[in-house]
Amino acid sequence: MQPRAEKMGLDPEKLRELLAQQLEEQRQSPTQPEASSTQGGTATTTETEAFHFDLKPEELEAYLDQYVIRQREAKAILSTKICTHFNRLNLPPEEEGEIVGNIKNNVLMIGPTGVGKTYLIRLIARKLGVPFVKGDATKFSETGYVGGDVEDLVRELVRDADGDIERAQHGIIYIDEIDKIASSRGEHGPDVSRSGVQRNLLKLMEETDVDLKAPHDIASQMESVMQMQQTGKVERQKVNTRDILYIVSGAFSGLDEIIGRRLNKNSMGFQANAAATSNNEQIEEEELLAHVRAADLIEYGFESEFIGRLPVIAVLHGLSVADLCEILQNPKSDVILSKKRDFRAYGIGVDFTDEALSLFAERAYEEHIGARGLVSAIEKVLLNYEKKLPSIDIEHFTVDADTVLNPAAGLAHLLQDTSLRNFLEAFKLEHDIILHVTPDAVERIEAVASERDITPRELCEEMFSDYGHGLKLAGLHEFRIGPEIINDSQEALNALIKSYYNQRE
Ligand code: ADP
Repeated sequence: MQPRAEKMGLDPEKLRELLAQQLEEQRQSPTQPEASSTQGGTATTTETEAFHFDLKPEELEAYLDQYVIRQREAKAILSTKICTHFNRLNLPPEEEGEIVGNIKNNVLMIGPTGVGKTYLIRLIARKLGVPFVKGDATKFSETGYVGGDVEDLVRELVRDADGDIERAQHGIIYIDEIDKIASSRGEHGPDVSRSGVQRNLLKLMEETDVDLKAPHDIASQMESVMQMQQTGKVERQKVNTRDILYIVSGAFSGLDEIIGRRLNKNSMGFQANAAATSNNEQIEEEELLAHVRAADLIEYGFESEFIGRLPVIAVLHGLSVADLCEILQNPKSDVILSKKRDFRAYGIGVDFTDEALSLFAERAYEEHIGARGLVSAIEKVLLNYEKKLPSIDIEHFTVDADTVLNPAAGLAHLLQDTSLRNFLEAFKLEHDIILHVTPDAVERIEAVASERDITPRELCEEMFSDYGHGLKLAGLHEFRIGPEIINDSQEALNALIKSYYNQRE
């Protein structure tokens, strides 16, 4: 085919028109040689390794247990259904072909913020070694979200798979805040735009081919134009969504009321049961959520087809202070590990006492954002440490209860301590004399320095300016500094030299 773009020059508008024409032509003649085909019948990359998976549900569950505190039921459901999904992909395509309307093990997770929903899916994707993207349903609108549309999630998956389309086709797409696209049940009738988003997502969740080049992405469209100029045709790469696993989640506030209404209507037994626990709202809400059915989600504002594509539901629980503390005590906790890494970046080691961790857990609990509150509770205490400590010579420090209760005093203490150590090292280097400061004297030095608003090092440099010379005169290589010396260092030195000469006479 003659590359018509060449004749027309590089007017972007014209080229785009031309490109659209070209794409249309190719769409109508699917036997174009550039579209290599896979088992799904879609154009993808050239030959890649066949997909193989052999992890068993209990292995995956044991892996999650190492990291995720509580959420036993969710861990069991996710490991089982996700392993089954990927193991099923090992089956020969003929077997799948026998089943009409292939039902995937897509999962809906219901639970408040910060209880481990994203964490679980990230861990699973890492263990499985499959590409993973997380999207946010609030960003979508019926006509595409800011700068893109729901299909961008699939394109992102290809990016996460380093461009390997075959791997991306076996990836996991996780969409949070899915409850926000429930069509509102208000007086104004159903929310058409949210139902539209549900339908767009439904298309992805069933099976569709997504063009790797987004129609709204000018850069990649221009790339196609250039390609067409050079070769006379555009290579269309498509990603088939059939085997992609979808996991969606949300807090679903108010869903418990819908379930409660249904259960009260249907079962007096449950009513009594719910009343027994009504003194604890959270437990009551979780008890109700455990009874969720598709009908409740439809009443909540979802299209029945959409819910039909989410056959697996996992309810996650709110975390108690003890759970939050356990998260921090877990040596694999990414909250503590990442804080340690922050300090290690400056060559500083940090340890946490159990009391300090309990205090952080209590503070985090008060925020009502689950384990997310842990990070902010720790940041609030340690931010100034992270700012100041890299400037001084310190190798290690411990965060204890006092640090959490009074971070400013703890930091001042560390800064002073280091300041004194620096003085002693410098003194030894300059005079080859070791000064031993008693704990009482350290306290006195810190008190006087803080009274005069100078550092302990500055105070010592002032107090002991003549000591290098004086101690050498007295032939001493080590010297003990007690609190009496701090009270009048000059007088103490004079007395020392006098007694030295008296001894010699
Ligand atoms: P969400 O439920 O809102 O998706 P996340 O999974 O993103 O919350 O949780 C935020 C962080 O809190 C995680 O990265 C993890 O460090 C920690 N976390 C949350 N829940 C748990 C849990 N059950 N066990 C261990 N860590 C958790």
